Amino acid sequence: MPKYSIAVIPGDGIGVEIVPEALKVLEKIGARFNHQFEFRPGLVGGAAIDATGKALPDETLALCQGSDAVLLGAVGGPKWDTLPAPERPEVASLLALRKGLGLYANIRPAVVYPALVQASTLKPEVVSGVDLVVFRELTGGIYFGEKKREKTADGELAQDNLVYTTREIERIARLAFEAARKRRKKVTSVDKANVLESSRLWRETVTRLSAEYPDVTLEHMYVDNCAMQLIRWPKQFDVVVTENMFGDILTDEAAMLTGSIGMLPSASIGGRVGMYEPSHGSAPDIAGQQKANPLATILSAAMMLRYSFGLEEEAQVIEKAVVEVLNGDSRTGDLMEPGKKLVTTAEMGELVVARL
Ligand code: NAD
Repeated sequence: MPKYSIAVIPGDGIGVEIVPEALKVLEKIGARFNHQFEFRPGLVGGAAIDATGKALPDETLALCQGSDAVLLGAVGGPKWDTLPAPERPEVASLLALRKGLGLYANIRPAVVYPALVQASTLKPEVVSGVDLVVFRELTGGIYFGEKKREKTADGELAQDNLVYTTREIERIARLAFEAARKRRKKVTSVDKANVLESSRLWRETVTRLSAEYPDVTLEHMYVDNCAMQLIRWPKQFDVVVTENMFGDILTDEAAMLTGSIGMLPSASIGGRVGMYEPSHGSAPDIAGQQKANPLATILSAAMMLRYSFGLEEEAQVIEKAVVEVLNGDSRTGDLMEPGKKLVTTAEMGELVVARL
């Protein structure tokens, strides 16, 4: 029986409520398709700070590096917000984990499910049928460039460097072109080449690489226009590829097309071990109340099966089960509509399991 080891890291807030639902789903898939999933628990974020003093304990990094994939809930919360920036859970654990695992590509699909068209704040005719995926560069750009702060005669000076190399651009663009080949064969590369030198290198590099993918249509779009087009006519997008900070902002915008951030999975890949997590945070406002939507985490587990283990059929079975559940009447609070039945986090997980 094929065996896959998964580092399971619930983290903080709703992380401890949503991750167990994804594990139930994986258990059921394992039983149905004859795979053995070994769950190996680890601590990260605020939970790890409280237990060990460090947001990413060495044992957790070693656990992740030694597993076949990582399933993460969310990190952070008000309790740790007053820590100095470099020690805060989000920075000290997530950025360090991405770096430690060599995860340079963040993949975030935004799919509008027919049953949830009404949940979006945009008009149904604008969002219905949206099915796009953003490939965001994750380990370069301004978030990782040299930072500086110094006193000046009239106050302070702060500086963040935005650096990209040809190799960094090529490897994320290649993933985007490969993904487009299996979808609707269109890549939109987003930059700010009219202003930024790093964006000019981005555009030149992506254009050069596109010669290897003559079957894929490439278009370039400035980031400000892309922010507008995502709201105006999101159906024009298939695969979007962009740098770290632009991707950070655009993926949250794309999230809102779907109605709730509780629906959006993500995958971070690049190294031997991929990491899978919902796109949302630890939602302290609803934590501990069984109100969280576990579907983003369950769909992240499906992405793990697809991208880390090559189990496409199993991934699709989970995605289909989620669609079927949404075609029914049950909703978690974030998706609640008049006439529907409110269910808890665990009940939503059970509904998916029952359809596998
Ligand atoms: P958030 O994503 O945690 O919450 C934003 C809003 O969406 C809240 O109203 C929340 O209740 C709701 N929400 C989020 N996930 C939901 C779900 N699954 N079901 C139903 N509703 C859901 O963002 P925030 O409030 O800005 O951040 C809270 C904490 O999470 C902060 O400490 C932040 O730094 C951290 N954070 C962590 C990650 C991560 O772990 N990857 C990402 C973003 C924010």
